[in-house]
Amino acid sequence: MPNHTPSNPDPIPLTVIPGDGIGPEVTQAALKLMAAAGGRFAVTEAVAGAVSFAAGDTTGVPEETLRAVERTGLVLKGPLETPVGHGGKSANVTLRKLFETFGNIRPVKEVPGIVTPFSGRGVDMIVVRENVEDLYAGIEHMQTPGVAQCLKLISRKGCEKIARLAFELARSEGRKSVHCATKANIMKLTEGMMKRVFEDVASDYRDIAAHHIIIDNCAQQLVMRPEQFEVIVTTNMNGDILSDLAAGLVGGLGLAPSANIGPDVAIFEAVHGSAPDIAGKGVANPTALALAGAMLMRHVGQGAAAERLERALFAVLGEGASVTPDVARDTSRAAGTDAFAEAVIAAMEAPEVVSIKAGSARPVRLPDMPRAPKLVTAKTAEMVGVDVFVDADTTPGALGGALAAATRDTAFRLKMISNRGTQVYPVAGPAPDCVDHWRCRFVLHSGAAGDDAAILALLSAVAAVAPWMHVEKLMRFDGERAYTLAQGEAA
Ligand code: NAD
Repeated sequence: MPNHTPSNPDPIPLTVIPGDGIGPEVTQAALKLMAAAGGRFAVTEAVAGAVSFAAGDTTGVPEETLRAVERTGLVLKGPLETPVGHGGKSANVTLRKLFETFGNIRPVKEVPGIVTPFSGRGVDMIVVRENVEDLYAGIEHMQTPGVAQCLKLISRKGCEKIARLAFELARSEGRKSVHCATKANIMKLTEGMMKRVFEDVASDYRDIAAHHIIIDNCAQQLVMRPEQFEVIVTTNMNGDILSDLAAGLVGGLGLAPSANIGPDVAIFEAVHGSAPDIAGKGVANPTALALAGAMLMRHVGQGAAAERLERALFAVLGEGASVTPDVARDTSRAAGTDAFAEAVIAAMEAPEVVSIKAGSARPVRLPDMPRAPKLVTAKTAEMVGVDVFVDADTTPGALGGALAAATRDTAFRLKMISNRGTQVYPVAGPAPDCVDHWRCRFVLHSGAAGDDAAILALLSAVAAVAPWMHVEKLMRFDGERAYTLAQGEAA
């Protein structure tokens, strides 16, 4: 990684991806503000997103851009368009994942001059979102023509990295508490892993209060009493939603910056998208990207420039006369992107006009984690059964009866069948509305050999009844059940 220390007087190599829609307008303004504030960068411009998709690159991130990011380790990125519900993968997510920027940091604090229902409450928090795992692993399958599946992958290592990053950030910013928000009450293995690892890691940071909170309650508390939160750490999907909610408390996405941090690469961007409705009109608000630029400068040790930029931005926003239409009190007299940027540059020269708490000038120290895969091993691993997922247009009773008969001579017995997670065979009560996607749980007969040959024999027997599309071994690791029960299933 390049030497990003304050004592290094050379301009710091920086890849700039202007992006799509309003991207080039806000990027140009942000770069101008960073330079005026005293930031020193040697810029390489690179493309990604719509232009690349249009040129036939299905990844949205061309090879030259990857090389530039790798070489500089530091990126200022405008928004990139993503096809919704079809087409290529998000170029944003590709960049984040390829460069292992595992931590998404989104500060949310009141902005002077921006009046919201929460103004004056002292909202000042940071949402730390795990950035590469979870449902964003992007592993999806149509399991039947009518049923889709997305794998939620959570690793112990991923949880440990994001939890440590949250505590390190809390320390570097002098914050006193970290909340971990999960849905561990429902997803006991995946979200539960985040909770358990957070609690383990917390014991290394006894100077900071660690709280766990269920994600839905966290959403409610964010609206009822947002000032109680200092740092919230959470899994990828939860963090995506919560951080937008939090940004809404202080005036919305147009004001919210974010950093994607990894061991080798850090990508700074606005939370908002490419705003196609206002692209090319010269009215986009560059505040979010400029604040991301301030985070970037702080990250590379240019804390004084970061502070100068933030103070001038907040002075102009607070004064309210030369701001863009999205935040203007009187839109008929709003400024364009360039005029706003000029006003901010002028404010850098003016004596202190607002007294605001700008961000901390200390860069975050990344958690010291081994690069090699940190594998979690078990002393014992025992296969106790198999879930076989089948596609069948039938009833629970008919499917259960046929499978029980067809698999009678195998090493397994049919324990139950569930449909969308609820046991439907055998069942005493009313049957839920079923779809053509059945999870058939087979457990080993006591004393039977649970090897792969036995599973293959079972699959042949099942296939004679209904086509299977997915198989999952049921394991016990160190004697602990490593799978969850269906709704209504006895242990
Ligand atoms: P958006 O954030 O682009 O726009 C939502 C609304 O906010 C629009 O009315 C827009 O005009 C306004 N807005 C956003 N940024 C603004 C700014 N700086 N100044 C003034 N107004 C602003 O969200 P969207 O319309 O849902 O998404 C458009 C595209 O952007 C999609 O292709 C989406 O995938 C992409 N996107 C990219 C990123 C990213 O690159 N990180 C993030 C979000 C969305």
